[in-house]
Amino acid sequence: MWTKLQNTPRKKIPRTIAVIDPDTCFGIACSICQAACPVEDCIVEEQDADGRWVCAVLIDKCIGCGLCVTVGNPTAPGKRDFGCPADYDAIDMVAYTEVVEVMEAQLDAEEPAEAEPVTT
Ligand code: SF4
Ligand code: SF4
Repeated sequence: MWTKLQNTPRKKIPRTIAVIDPDTCFGIACSICQAACPVEDCIVEEQDADGRWVCAVLIDKCIGCGLCVTVGNPTAPGKRDFGCPADYDAIDMVAYTEVVEVMEAQLDAEEPAEAEPVTT
């Protein structure tokens, strides 16, 4: 799951949002998803765990339109003229609640353990 959490309030929660798999994303030399997305700064460029620059979706900006998803991928809600190239098909629409649960679990796991009290 490669989607960033921003913690900014939003007026309407979409049913599903786009999630980009960094392992199948070609990398930012492609960026067709950014061209397809109608929301400014919704798809950003990030380094993956291997230091490779790939695209990632900001949870709190995605409106769930599915325009970035590969034509033919059944997870997208509507018609689109183009999207992520079929060779990569790196984007799926995923339930918003599921994405938030996974991201919060990841953030919890990354939080440093509380320091042991010092005793003398
Ligand atoms: S689903 Fe729509 S708003 Fe969300 S990242 Fe894709 S194109 Fe942008
Ligand atoms: S369109 Fe697909 S392959 Fe291209 S940068 Fe976006 S997610 Fe990666």
